[in-house]
Amino acid sequence: MSSEPSVLELFGSNVFNDTVMKERLPKGVYKSLKKTIDQGHKIDPNIADVVANAMKDWAVFKGATHFTHIFQPLTGKTAEKHDAFLSQARDGSMMLELTGAQLIQGEPDASSFPSGGLRATFEARGYTAWDCTSPAFIKDDGNNNKTLCIPTAFCSYTGEALDKKTPLLRSMEAVSKQALRLVAVFGDTKSNRVISTVGPEQEYFLIDRKDYDNRLDLRTSGRTLFGAPSPKGQELDDQYFGSIKDKVLAFMANFDEELWKLGITSKTRHNEVAPSQFEMAPIFTTTNMAVDQNQLVMEMLQKVALRHGLVCLLHEKPFAGLNGSGKHNNWSLSTNEGINLVEPGETPHDNEQFLMVLSALIKSVDVHADLLRASAANSGNDHRLGANEAPPAIISIFMGTELTRILESIAKSGKSTTSDPDFVRLGVDSLPPLPKDNTDRNRTSPFAFTGNKFEFRMAPSSASIARCNTVLNTIVAEALDEIATRLENASDVSAESTQIVQDAMNNHGRIIFNGDGYSEEWVEEAAKRGLPNIGNTVDAVKSFTTEKSIALFEKYEVLSKSENESRVEVLLEQYAMEINIEAQTSINMVNTQYIPAVITFTKELADTVNSLKSAGADSSVQEALLSTVNESLSSAVTNLAKLKEVAKTAQETDSADTFAEAERDLVFPAMAALRIDIDALETILPKTLWPVPSYSDLLFRIN
Ligand code: ADP
Ligand code: MG
Repeated sequence: MSSEPSVLELFGSNVFNDTVMKERLPKGVYKSLKKTIDQGHKIDPNIADVVANAMKDWAVFKGATHFTHIFQPLTGKTAEKHDAFLSQARDGSMMLELTGAQLIQGEPDASSFPSGGLRATFEARGYTAWDCTSPAFIKDDGNNNKTLCIPTAFCSYTGEALDKKTPLLRSMEAVSKQALRLVAVFGDTKSNRVISTVGPEQEYFLIDRKDYDNRLDLRTSGRTLFGAPSPKGQELDDQYFGSIKDKVLAFMANFDEELWKLGITSKTRHNEVAPSQFEMAPIFTTTNMAVDQNQLVMEMLQKVALRHGLVCLLHEKPFAGLNGSGKHNNWSLSTNEGINLVEPGETPHDNEQFLMVLSALIKSVDVHADLLRASAANSGNDHRLGANEAPPAIISIFMGTELTRILESIAKSGKSTTSDPDFVRLGVDSLPPLPKDNTDRNRTSPFAFTGNKFEFRMAPSSASIARCNTVLNTIVAEALDEIATRLENASDVSAESTQIVQDAMNNHGRIIFNGDGYSEEWVEEAAKRGLPNIGNTVDAVKSFTTEKSIALFEKYEVLSKSENESRVEVLLEQYAMEINIEAQTSINMVNTQYIPAVITFTKELADTVNSLKSAGADSSVQEALLSTVNESLSSAVTNLAKLKEVAKTAQETDSADTFAEAERDLVFPAMAALRIDIDALETILPKTLWPVPSYSDLLFRIN
């Protein structure tokens, strides 16, 4: 027998999960809590003390000394404030304690979290409230520091959401309510919840820790702001799915173990397209858990990498000229009985319901394409979307040829071909029909049907997936609401279903595109179809505050007008500040690293020219080189001055809006111009004089 704990022993060992609860809670308390979790009810305050105490005992038994409410402020990162269990009794004796009140609600000082004007600083208090549908767990830093983490929502004194989780939970409620109406029409009156599920695939880069330490740009901005292309990039396609290097595999093994302990079903690991780029994917789960777990995945990637002398880069575009990273957000809806609504069923009846779900998606994605685009916007993703390596910035749906054919035929003739038991026939009798979840793939689509789920491929690698799932759930809730109302009032459900498909196809069919999303023709074609093509974050995020969007979010009680406005403000500020940090970093590196290196080289060259001349030798080659270097240097100095000037102008703007626009229109191009000079110099200067690791160092060091 192996002395190592098995995967099954490890799995969930740091989670206050169902088994632990059953074991440690009195029967009645367990039942009541379970009901709360399964049905999303409010927790009975009478059981809170018992649950809290059991949780504390378990955590202390596992070696934890502290507890914290963890939440996702609008920064998109995870926030935590630790308190020791240690507490003093009235008689002065010390004890370990977690009360029901402490479990259910916390009051962290909210004044330093961005709120986009929601919370005036004089009312700095924010409240965290336990989200018992996402289990508590123990975070272990590997040095025996263990903390009990309690997932929470975070809101202001007046109840406005200051976080990403609250709107997400509200959107899950909204889509559940409307989807239940749909399944009821088709005979399912037993289900009491429809759950949105997500499986997020996470891409990332790994680089050597020493190289990272020697690059200020990576440390401040997460991406290289300079760097000439490496002689070898990704052109050989020899990284994708390649054999995983030992050092990386050692990291991945350790990383998987940490995730398994946290009850995260890390399942798939592989090399990605760019050198030193990788991907992990868990098994899908309830959306709010998938969101919480993805935050942990990002944290563990970074922590575990350090233990292996590596640094994990989560930025969307760490290296120019190479593929960047994203998250593929696989999304679906299923009843609490486990019936997937985004899957073709066994009977024509099931398929009618499935076609209603497709119609809802076609309509919602077309009507709210701008919102979906906005849900993936950040400064890093501006380098990817539309850059022929990631989805285009234009939203469309890939349905696959078979499904499109069926939808089109219904739209044209009203005839449903859904009585075919399987959608994909191979036309060869000896072969079984293709399993339905194996539809043809299209890697260039931002929103692709993949047999039993939709894959939203635009999500940024570094950001929380709460935003895109909140949008997705809400827009689908709206479309399902409309469809359910029509069907509930119809005398002939089948005839009405056909009409619904026809309306979806006739009014919104333009959103379906099965071709190459990277091609120039698609950009033109999409423009003809009137589909929005939103090229940057500043324009994109404003979609949250159009009249149409505000009405949508208010109707389904997901975000109020002021909550939406606050989010746009925070997103714009974040965008502007990120580019400002990049600009300040560029200025710093050019001033203190690149220019001094170039001056050293010009001095060496000048000295050589003088020596050659006094020896009577030919110095023309050295002189030519000196003048080339001097030219680039002088251009760099001019561009540096310009960058400094526009960076100052941008900072003098007076609103999040104008700040973001100035960063986009003035600072960003000025940085790009300066980069050209520096990258040109990198190809001329001796490697020994170049002050920072090169692209080849960064990308091909790990072996
Ligand atoms: P790909 O071939 O797209 O790279 P992966 O296997 O890497 O596929 O990832 C697919 C993801 O989709 C996994 O996380 C998987 O658990 C998830 N998934 C599968 N079924 C569903 C579903 N019904 N709802 C949400 N996600 C799902
Ligand atoms: Mg994958």
